[in-house]
Amino acid sequence: MSEQMPGLPAPKPDPATAGYWEAAGRGELVVQRCGECGTDRHPPTQVCYVCNSLDWTWEPHSGRGHVFSYTWVDRPILPALAPLGAYNTTVVELDDTTGVVRILSRITDVGRDELAIGMPVEVHFDPAGDGIALPVFRPVTEVAR
Ligand SMILES: [Zn+2]
Repeated sequence: MSEQMPGLPAPKPDPATAGYWEAAGRGELVVQRCGECGTDRHPPTQVCYVCNSLDWTWEPHSGRGHVFSYTWVDRPILPALAPLGAYNTTVVELDDTTGVVRILSRITDVGRDELAIGMPVEVHFDPAGDGIALPVFRPVTEVAR
């Protein structure tokens, strides 16, 4: 895990998102799955956008995905982000889900010239205090067999 960045506002879990943040705090990535139609979804919501069911569960996920889109931020929007220097804001599309699951996050351990759409990535976690963490991603450096 990385160091918690002082001064960075932590997520505020609500009944639909608490399980996501708490799992991240344990070092696990989970995806919300509809109990009626089986569609995986993100961000977490109380109601399925496919079938309107209120029945859902948290499903463990491998944390593997690929870069769907990204941009680099040269001027941090919060002073707490200044130590990062230029940082990326990236949409990661998870692999092996029953619906399209995209997570707004950040890719660590990657240079500006290296980050690319389609790059395979894997999750790791930045502590955010109070037992929760932020899922962030890094490039996959070896191919799973
Ligand atoms: Zn559904």
